[in-house]
Amino acid sequence: MSRRSRPPDPDLAERLLVLDDDPNLAEIVCRGGAAVGLSCRAADTAEEFLRLVSGWSPSYIVIDLVMPEKDGVEVLAELARLGCEARIIIMSGLGSRVLDAAGRSATERGLNLLGVLGKPFRLSALESLLVRKDQAPTAAHTAHPRETSNEWRPDVESLRRAIERREFFAVFQPSIDCATGELVSFEALARWQHPVHGEIQPSRFIPALEETSLVEPFTCLMCERAMQWLGQAQRVGVPEVAINISAAALQNTLFDCAMTSCNNHGVSPSRVTLELTETHAMQDPTHSLAILTRLRVNGFHLSIDDFGTGYSSMAQLVRLPFSELKVDRSFVMRSTQSEEAGKIVKSIVDLGHSLGLRTVAEGVENQATFDYLTDLRCGRAQGYWFAKPMRGEDALDWVEQRRQTH
Ligand code: C2E
Ligand code: CA
Ligand code: CA
Repeated sequence: MSRRSRPPDPDLAERLLVLDDDPNLAEIVCRGGAAVGLSCRAADTAEEFLRLVSGWSPSYIVIDLVMPEKDGVEVLAELARLGCEARIIIMSGLGSRVLDAAGRSATERGLNLLGVLGKPFRLSALESLLVRKDQAPTAAHTAHPRETSNEWRPDVESLRRAIERREFFAVFQPSIDCATGELVSFEALARWQHPVHGEIQPSRFIPALEETSLVEPFTCLMCERAMQWLGQAQRVGVPEVAINISAAALQNTLFDCAMTSCNNHGVSPSRVTLELTETHAMQDPTHSLAILTRLRVNGFHLSIDDFGTGYSSMAQLVRLPFSELKVDRSFVMRSTQSEEAGKIVKSIVDLGHSLGLRTVAEGVENQATFDYLTDLRCGRAQGYWFAKPMRGEDALDWVEQRRQTH
């Protein structure tokens, strides 16, 4: 069965399809769609719905999670299999945690999620989701920040050559003091300028490097790149830099090359933060503790990266001499849309305060998130909202331009 509500011009209007076994609710959704100029249809079974998805090609879909035969999660899986590109809104009366999980599952399958609606909802909530359509995040770009492509994996020999030829370079992303809005630091992120494949992202080569002892000379090269840049950048007022360090690279050579790079470029270690992830993977915890302590004693800051994920644990936070806690971007990115994510960010920031650690939130993509972090008294914020990672020269230009406008 399908019903149609009258939009201004059904032929020209974009199409909205509702799946809900409750005809009254479907009618309300259709009214909301028509109010923002969409042509609407409703289906009360998954079968009818999927037929319309293929035959009528809606650009918006509103889907109820709880259905008698096939539940909404199964239907979403089916949509993903069909490669459906419609913008999707998920509804349910099951509470925010379930909605949140369904939303994540949809984006992780590559669907374009516009938002979630708890039942009962106000018509205005639906309408505002529908009119926000143009600025909806494209799930395909934001849903898989840590995706590792399995198309091409460099072999050890090509990695060794790349280090020798110094093909790895750093791009720099700023972080901002939440209280003052001032620029406080830049994080150096690795890229590989491959002679054939062009610029390669770290998810393609860091895991391969970490499997070999090449991670040590690679980390030294990145230290050298970052300190060299800061040596120049501090003359135009850039205060600090942060460098990512793999747990496997925590060897005495790291201490030596970090110190040497600082000396070579006139950088004080107190202006450098070393960010560590996967702290549980440290091969020899006693040895790592000694090196981290040496680094800290010599003035380097130590940050526990991706905090809140399985890789960075509470036990390590207490055991190792960290001075900074970096909230994982997966929570930060959703903190204003998902109540759960917002609460997680708040508890991590509170934990940082009570342990006397500097707190940094990464993955800040909009003003609302920045405002939320400022309210929580989070120390620093980093993310696309301020700037994407930039090549060294471009980062210096960015600093110059920002100075002129602030
Ligand atoms: P990370 O240390 O958590 O770095 C932050 C990542 O988030 C960067 O990805 C950055 O481009 C991205 N990002 C920043 N702001 C936003 C935002 O607002 N939204 C979203 N969706 N993403 C944002 P990138 O450059 O691809 O680096 C990925 C990871 O690779 C890094 O995650 C880090 O774990 C690793 N990595 C990068 N460079 C190095 C390095 O020199 N050494 C080591 N060991 N790991 C590195
Ligand atoms: Ca990092
Ligand atoms: Ca991180």
